[in-house]
Amino acid sequence: MQQDRHYQFVGVSAVTKNIQQKFSWLNPNLEVRSAGGGDYKSMFARMATKAGERLVIFGGEVFPVVEQIGDYGIQIDEDFVINGVSVHSGDYYEDTFFFNHSCEPNAGIKGQIFLVAMRDIAVDEEVTFDYAMCLHETKGAPPYRMECLCGRTNCRKVITDNDYKIKELQKKYDGYFSWYLQDKIDRLKKRNATRNGSKQS
Ligand SMILES: [Zn+2]
Repeated sequence: MQQDRHYQFVGVSAVTKNIQQKFSWLNPNLEVRSAGGGDYKSMFARMATKAGERLVIFGGEVFPVVEQIGDYGIQIDEDFVINGVSVHSGDYYEDTFFFNHSCEPNAGIKGQIFLVAMRDIAVDEEVTFDYAMCLHETKGAPPYRMECLCGRTNCRKVITDNDYKIKELQKKYDGYFSWYLQDKIDRLKKRNATRNGSKQS
């Protein structure tokens, strides 16, 4: 029998074998495919998808970042992550956590748990977002650092939890940062504008 492709559990443990609870919603236009050989998997468009379309609503258990296990969570605050890997009920994760990072992404965050298409996405195109859109350093947790192999001409090579501070990215992803980062960036911009305004007067 064909498995439910959209919520296929990978690495299902004996404990979770019978648990079919789905935490996240994935747009049926998307599917996880093997890519680049080995165990590497990524999200792809099965069908053409329009700009602005909702791609995912991330769900899962909410953990303090300091307790985060693995690399399958979406950071939703300086201190918290929503995570498809459960430390309480097993070690499975959902398809929605197979989105890879790209320095030239076609998807962005809305709110904290929505991922939307930033532009039209063609059939068979890999769907990615920039991890800078949701990462922030956390007190007490080791700094996030990932070598990027996205191969884009503008690749930053190393992705960190401080990348949201890069002015160029703030401009490029305006409206696509997680709410808590967007809020912080908007406040900084406002403060700078006031400061510059008072200098001019
Ligand atoms: Zn890159």
